[in-house]
Amino acid sequence: MAEKFIVIIGGVISGVGKGIATASIGKILEEFGYDITAIKIDPYINYDAGTLRPTEHGEVWVTYDGGEVDQDLGNYERFLGMHLPRKNNITTGQVYDKIIKNERQGKYLGETVQFIPHVPNEIIKRIKDASKEYDIALIEIGGTVGDYENIPFLFAMKSLEKEFSKDNVLYVLVTYMPIPSNIGEMKTKPTQQAIKQLNEHGIFPDIILCRGEKPLDSVRRKKIETYANIDSQFVISAPDEKVLYAIPLNFEKENLGSKVLKKLKLPLKKTPDFEKWEKLVNVIKSPKDIVNIAMVGKYVNVGEFSLKDSYISVNQSLEHAAAHLDVGVKINWIEAEELENYGKVANLLSKYKGIVVPGGFGSKGVEGKINAIRYARENNVPFLGLCYGLQLAVVEYARNILGMNNANSTEIDEHTPYPVIDILESQKQLMANSNYGNTMRLGSYCAYIDENSYIFKYYKLLGRVKTLEEVENYFKDDSNKEKRIGIVKPEEAKSLVLERHRHRYEVNPAYIDRLVNGGLRIAGYHRMKDGVKLVEFIEIDKHPYFAATQAHPEFESSLEHPSPMFYGFIDSAKKKLSKGLVKT
Ligand code: GLN
Repeated sequence: MAEKFIVIIGGVISGVGKGIATASIGKILEEFGYDITAIKIDPYINYDAGTLRPTEHGEVWVTYDGGEVDQDLGNYERFLGMHLPRKNNITTGQVYDKIIKNERQGKYLGETVQFIPHVPNEIIKRIKDASKEYDIALIEIGGTVGDYENIPFLFAMKSLEKEFSKDNVLYVLVTYMPIPSNIGEMKTKPTQQAIKQLNEHGIFPDIILCRGEKPLDSVRRKKIETYANIDSQFVISAPDEKVLYAIPLNFEKENLGSKVLKKLKLPLKKTPDFEKWEKLVNVIKSPKDIVNIAMVGKYVNVGEFSLKDSYISVNQSLEHAAAHLDVGVKINWIEAEELENYGKVANLLSKYKGIVVPGGFGSKGVEGKINAIRYARENNVPFLGLCYGLQLAVVEYARNILGMNNANSTEIDEHTPYPVIDILESQKQLMANSNYGNTMRLGSYCAYIDENSYIFKYYKLLGRVKTLEEVENYFKDDSNKEKRIGIVKPEEAKSLVLERHRHRYEVNPAYIDRLVNGGLRIAGYHRMKDGVKLVEFIEIDKHPYFAATQAHPEFESSLEHPSPMFYGFIDSAKKKLSKGLVKT
């Protein structure tokens, strides 16, 4: 059982980086030698993030055990370099669903089931379950203090405090200090109100992180100290920072780590060593060279803003890989629909050192994505295809190399003469039984990688190739272990990799032979329990880097452990810088 809890609550407005602050505190404590876990509480009634609109909530994060959860778990994983299970995202929907199920099963033995104590009790049960193997659990409460919907969670935190004593529960308020342009002065009033609102719930913040455009000055620090009745050393300045990974370092300039330990009465277990982290941050901050990448996607406009957040993990993974390769990366957003006329593609794409086609659903912009893939293939431009990116690369290859006119995915054209991407027969059954929710392949699956592929070379280089024994150990507590591993032949047991998935369609097994005979290398596949082979990786040998995966390797990339698929891509794009093969 975790013995210490750090509760992170937002004040004033949302979107000021509570998730990043949580991840940064976690990273610091990890450096101090503690085993950390992080839990995100989302007050909405959706059971999980799978059904949330990406235009409102950004990308869905997929956990190794198949959960579709809040993107903040992605932030935690990217900072902490650890795997978090789906149970680390608690929603109001899950809490009520469980209580109602318990009630129907008579588990409350005839009691009246009420908001208090049943709701906070269920919340605490979930927190305990998610934190039991760790020293310290960080609990981030979604939304902002004052929201009606986070009241049950604040109440639960008080119960947690009662059970574990105040010494073991630390409250961090992440607040915002606006500088209204007509006044030109940083205002503390909204923060004072946030503190007051928290106090009404019996919560007195131990540490206040003051987000703002500028650093906190001594006058404002003093004001908050007086108002919140805490020593000014616990009022931390957190000005805007372009490079997210610099935030733990900025916090450490104010010795946040030792202050947290002091408040929690914990000793320093290890001297922190941020050297490697700092080096990576410095590359991101001031790279010697920059590779220009085209990201061909579907960009939804919300009012006057175009939403880049739906590809946040992909952006981050490119950044991680580039930092390790000592270059910067500039991502250029190309609207796929603008590439629908192949005659215009060269004009729009020739200045980039690499092209990414990320995941996606539906037919919008698909022909543009296919054109971008064709351009990359024909002009030796490094290409990285992710999930839909692999599927469309297969469609492109079938059409333009194998002469299968109008080949397509049945997601786009149900009546295509060459359904190279299709729903598996076994999934069709599930869908016919309107078991639609079960038809997505979600979470980590094991794939065998061809040792002659360049994809394998990068997995090997980054220490990501696993043995069957390691894979079995990885899934040891997973109830879907058998399905996730599938069948591995003895000769494959040393070249396995794990990546996460989120898709419904697959490369149609009936076309694999024709693709292979036509020169496409199937660089890796998963063999299902029924023996059917699913294509996981493809590449083209005579190309500097034309690699795609059915998985989403962006969910297995952290600052310290970049993804091999992204690393290989940036490595090849970087080579273009010196060779000047692509015009800029
Ligand atoms: N639309 C495709 C499928 O469902 C790809 C999904 C994705 O890119 N995540 O299989």
